[in-house]
This record gives sequence, structure tokens and C-alpha cells, in this order.
Amino acid sequence: MKLQSYQSANGPRTAVQLGDQLLDLHDANPDIPCDICEIFQRDRWLDLLRETVKQGGTTFPIDSVTLLPPIPTPQKIVCIGLNYADHAAETGDSIPDKPVVFNKFPTALAQNGDTISLPRVSQQVDYEAELVVVIGKKGKDISRENAWEHVAGYCCGNDVSARDWQFLPPARQWFIGKTFDGFAPIGPCLTTVDEIPQPVTLDVSLRLNGQTMQHSNTRQFIFDIPTLLAWVSQVCTLVPGDLIFTGTPPGVGIGRKPPVFLHSGDVCEVEIEGLGVLKNTFR
Ligand code: ZN
Repeated sequence: MKLQSYQSANGPRTAVQLGDQLLDLHDANPDIPCDICEIFQRDRWLDLLRETVKQGGTTFPIDSVTLLPPIPTPQKIVCIGLNYADHAAETGDSIPDKPVVFNKFPTALAQNGDTISLPRVSQQVDYEAELVVVIGKKGKDISRENAWEHVAGYCCGNDVSARDWQFLPPARQWFIGKTFDGFAPIGPCLTTVDEIPQPVTLDVSLRLNGQTMQHSNTRQFIFDIPTLLAWVSQVCTLVPGDLIFTGTPPGVGIGRKPPVFLHSGDVCEVEIEGLGVLKNTFR
């Protein structure tokens, strides 16, 4: 199923996308909460949604409402650096023997179609196509074996990065370089976990103004999704709606000769097999 969050007078609502139509889940079945993160906390929520879609209800055109990021208010945005061996090589880093973890604030969130502001204080804004894992079930010290139970679904993501801030001397500062407002677009919807076979082997690509800059497959991950959930949840409790950006493949702007950075009017499209296209303009 493809899920969307959209704005209503009473706050965010959740809908299933059926072609170019939306079916509001709470309207179709009042037992289903309005908020997507609360839906994930229901027992057998996928079955409940499937039954509701089967029963049907009144639909409305997707362009008749204001869409929100599929997860409008995540508590945490956790990001993994250097999770593709060939990307580590292009940045001059060695292949990590444990996950490299940083984060973004939820204020960095943006959605499909948003225009993202290029900060005046950076001249080196770069793109990073990434698979985003959405947590569905709360967990601490999650085992690799049980990790899939904690996944609600997936989105495309762009880990937008100001390289001049990320590598600002005297030390590397990944967090501050990657958490500018708008630097965490996700979308174009949430694809539920049941639609994607495990292990997750999806083509990931990024086009800049129509030209392919990144193209790889998540089978190239150094650390797979269960390993990442186990690693991060040793430290902090993961809760429904938390986002895990899983790292980017080679082809980022800073790895090119000469380097490529984003300019006003540039359009980035992140496409992941089965998840759709996340498109954002920079200005
Ligand atoms: Zn990244």
C-alpha cells in the first residue's frame, strides 16, 4: 500500500493512495487513528488497512488536498554515513567496520515537490539519494532476527548536505552540515513493508536536471537494515515514525572532478525501485 499524510482542519490525516485518488482511512473506518504513527501502533495494522481498502469508501483526488511528508512529525531522523563501499572510496574514507551514525533535526523535513532553500551561508550544497526506513514498532536493543517486525515501510530520501559546513575545520561536523531547514526531503509516499521483498534489493538513483548522477542498488549496503536497527537501538529507543536514512551510493557532487554543487533552479529526483520518485527544486 502507498500511504499519504495530508492536512485537514483538525490536523494531519492518513490516506491510502489508489492511483490519483485518496481514501481517508479514519473516514472509511473510525477504528483507524488519524495519525500515521498511531496507526503503526495498532496490532495487525497492515491487515486492518487491507480490509478497510477492500471495503472501500469515498475517495477524492490527490490534488484536492495539501499533502504533508508521509511522516509529518517524526521524533528522530537517524542517518547512516558511508554505507556503500564505493561511496566511501570517493570521499577518501576507508570502509567502516561499524556503522557511522549522525542525525538531522525534524525541522529539516521536507516533502515531494517542495522547493528547498539554498542557505546563503553555504556555497557547497550537495545531494545524496537514500533509501529511508520508517520505524513502525517501538524497540530498544532490537535483535537482527526481530528487526523486520519494527519496520513499517520505506520512502525515498535526499540527505542534502552542505559540504563546506560538514567538513568545517577544525573537526568534521556532519550534523550541522546536514540539518539546515529542508535538508531532509522524503516521499513521494510511504510504501508499506509488505510490498518490498526481504532482503531489500532496490535500485537507487538520482537525477540532477534530468542527468543520472547516482545509480546503484541497496544490495551494495555495507550494513543491512537489520544490522542498522540493531546497532542504533543499542543506544536509543526507536519509536513509530522514526526515520533511518540508510546512506548514499557513489556519484555525489563532491566526489566529482570538478565537484558539482547545487545552484538555484536545480531539480533533484531520487528514484527508488517500487517507491516512486521524490522531486525537489532548489532555490
Ligand atoms: Zn547520507
